[in-house]
Amino acid sequence: MATDLPTVSPYLLDRGPTMCRRRLAGVLGGRQPSYRPFNRWRVRDPLVAGAEDAQAVLGLPRISAFVAPAQLVHEERAVFDQAAQGYVASFSESPAEVALDHGCHHLPTKDRRRGVRLGGTIDLVLQRPGGTVGSGGTVGSGGTVGSGGTVELRQLELWRRPVAADPNRSWAVLVAALRLAPWVARRPLLVVHADVLQRRIRRHVIQASEHEHLGGRLDDRLALLRRRAADPVPEPGSDCAICGFIADCPALRN
Ligand code: SF4
Repeated sequence: MATDLPTVSPYLLDRGPTMCRRRLAGVLGGRQPSYRPFNRWRVRDPLVAGAEDAQAVLGLPRISAFVAPAQLVHEERAVFDQAAQGYVASFSESPAEVALDHGCHHLPTKDRRRGVRLGGTIDLVLQRPGGTVGSGGTVGSGGTVGSGGTVELRQLELWRRPVAADPNRSWAVLVAALRLAPWVARRPLLVVHADVLQRRIRRHVIQASEHEHLGGRLDDRLALLRRRAADPVPEPGSDCAICGFIADCPALRN
């Protein structure tokens, strides 16, 4: 059954141009998948919760705030511990405070003009007084933060995907920046994408003047995906292994 607005994830924006058209149409049509082959939240959610606790007030993160859930299996626990240590090591030179009032914390953001809910993760949003960019890592292009307080979007990478903070290179960053735009308002947004396991960091500053361009890129990509979904022929291939609509797929009936 379809929900009111389909959720469009950064993954869909990235993979949609080559994804099986029937699978793409199912997602864009808001159809409920028969299963969700995704369990990465078991490590990510408690790690983000620990980071939020660690910086609930202006200061540096404390390792004691990261408490591993009892249900993690041995391998997950090892990843959690290493990621927590990597987080503290990566962000211990610039005090910051977590902001939770931006409205994008747990649920996708409704975008009625585009007819979608914008999904993906908003891991941590932080504020700090002054205009310092922070420490360590690689500073990407994209201007300077300036003075008058910094807003930082801190995205955590746990699965060895490319580290990218530039919204023109990462749909995850682009979507997160647009979701946060009403709350960020005219302030620059410092994006920090950190692989806390490999301790690699990229930084990029998004100015408010870029929001229109980023919105245009999203509109163009959504239009492309809708054109493909309008002809929802099944295209069996590697997508089938992670498809939530495999149960009634006519291409795989035999
Ligand atoms: S099972 Fe395969 S062919 Fe069928 S919709 Fe899913 S991805 Fe497409």
